[in-house]
Amino acid sequence: MKKIVVIGGVAGGMSFAARMRRLDETAEITVIEKSGFVSYANCGLPYYVGGVIENEDSLLLQTPQSLWKRFRLDVRTGSEVLRIDRESKQVDVLNHADAHEYSLSYDYLIFSPGAAPIRPNLPGIERSLSLRNVEDAKRMFDVVSLKPTSAVVIGGGFIGVEMAENLVHRGIKTSIVEAQNQVLMPLDPEMVTLVHMELESRGVKLFLGSALASINVKNVVLANGTEIDADLVIMAIGVRPEVTLAKSAGLEIGERGGVKVDQFNRTSDPSIYAVGDAVEKTDALDYSAALVPLANIANRHGRVIADHIAGKIVRPVPAQGTAIVKVFDLTVATSGWNEKKLTAAGRNFVAVHNHPASHAGYYPGAQGMALKLLIDPQSHQILGVQGVGKEGVDKRIDVIATAMRGGITAPELADLELAYAPPFGSAKDPVNMLGYISENVLTGITPTVQWHEVEKKVSEGYSILDVRSVAEVDRGTLPGAQNLPIDEIRERKEEIPKGKILVTCQVGQRGHAATRLLREMGYEAFNLDGGYMTWSNSPANNKEKVGI
Ligand SMILES: Cc1cc2nc3c(=O)[nH]c(=O)nc-3n(C[C@H](O)[C@H](O)[C@H](O)COP(=O)(O)OP(=O)(O)OC[C@H]3O[C@@H](n4cnc5c(N)ncnc54)[C@H](O)[C@@H]3O)c2cc1C
Repeated sequence: MKKIVVIGGVAGGMSFAARMRRLDETAEITVIEKSGFVSYANCGLPYYVGGVIENEDSLLLQTPQSLWKRFRLDVRTGSEVLRIDRESKQVDVLNHADAHEYSLSYDYLIFSPGAAPIRPNLPGIERSLSLRNVEDAKRMFDVVSLKPTSAVVIGGGFIGVEMAENLVHRGIKTSIVEAQNQVLMPLDPEMVTLVHMELESRGVKLFLGSALASINVKNVVLANGTEIDADLVIMAIGVRPEVTLAKSAGLEIGERGGVKVDQFNRTSDPSIYAVGDAVEKTDALDYSAALVPLANIANRHGRVIADHIAGKIVRPVPAQGTAIVKVFDLTVATSGWNEKKLTAAGRNFVAVHNHPASHAGYYPGAQGMALKLLIDPQSHQILGVQGVGKEGVDKRIDVIATAMRGGITAPELADLELAYAPPFGSAKDPVNMLGYISENVLTGITPTVQWHEVEKKVSEGYSILDVRSVAEVDRGTLPGAQNLPIDEIRERKEEIPKGKILVTCQVGQRGHAATRLLREMGYEAFNLDGGYMTWSNSPANNKEKVGI
């Protein structure tokens, strides 16, 4: 009979424990959980604070009693592992209720303590609240129920943005302070503008590129001296792997600061496995060590460990970092690497932007979305994808994340036979369209120019030709652009500029057709990828905001 002790009874720990029981009825499995709750839905906590999830109980997926009844798991909440003694294969446990300390021996130890919110050592930091577990959420809920007038969220990551939305939902004047010049760092700058617009349109004040200096009784002060009213301060600048116990037990810590594990999630001690936010994952693209504090991969790896201990065949699971977040009416989703990361790593890539409708335009309710695909120019491997929009973004990113996992190349997205009827999509789904565009770009049928290359191209002598209608151009175009509507190009060919031509339209589609026509006519034409919409959503040009 195996004696197994699990440290941490939420995503990674509980996925492991339940799977282990299903594979081995004889194992003695004890789960030690520091907080007062087990198997709770931490991803739902911001929505509990915001009053969207009204019933606290719906966040509590299991109790120690239900886990004993169904799985014969000995779950001890309010109990903290204080030490791991690898020599004697024991952990020391403190029961917080009665301050009783005792030891538990193990054959296998599963380490899943999660991550700890980063809390910088700044004046007044003790007044800020962080959100990690049910107790934190209750504390925050109570403060919010006192009806504070103003709140400042420090950090514009996924949790920070979710918190801002939920505080607005509770009628609180909310600001986000973010040290970088954008929120949601997995997005590239031309994609995140839409998120900034959405937040601002909902009354969230953004202080970007601003570092927090101090927290006072009624406000926060930024490094540049700006003071922002803050009855409530939420600290959400990120998390770090909770490795204190692992370090003191002498387990190997990796270069990114998480517990180092092999492909079966074994630590440097073969009797100890580690999972979740506390460990380093293997990046699916370059196999480097990565911190990916997300629930899916924690759950998946929990199962991997159980399978490995039970002697099953295990498929190692690298991390793509597929993530999604709701920002008021917007859905933001990503998978793989973004342009910033590829550039920093010196990797070659081709970017493709598209602004399709969520479903057939003639069926009521279609919404625009912005999609961006990053592709390896040699192998045509999909390196990353980003999507922002009101509807249908989730399924497109999930399809592409699946394609990435399956090794489907960017042009092959055109071949995917996806479910279609007018209320749901288009006969050429946005995913297929990314495949078509990729093929055209990668094979040189339609060479493209990116939004950030326009100025350089103009300085090199390119002329800009806007092929939209006169009415559209009147609403805004690129500086210096000449208007020649696509349907008039053949008749007005004497007006086509000499030399290299940068063709632009609204989203890149008419630009593609016009570029092809001009090339057939013998001109050296290039299409502005993503058209005026992508260009005007770029940080430098977004005074001309045009939406998705
Ligand atoms: C507010 C919030 C929203 C989130 N939203 C999303 C989302 O929408 N999508 C997504 O993919 N991910 C989301 N996440 C991240 C996701 O919850 C984590 O990636 C996942 O829970 C990690 O699993 P884990 O097992 O490593 O850690 P956790 O699930 O955090 O579990 C760790 C547990 O270990 C316990 N513990 C720590 N130390 C000890 C000790 N010494 N002894 C005993 N117990 C200990 C802790 O109390 C904790 O309950 C969110 C996280 C938070 C906090």
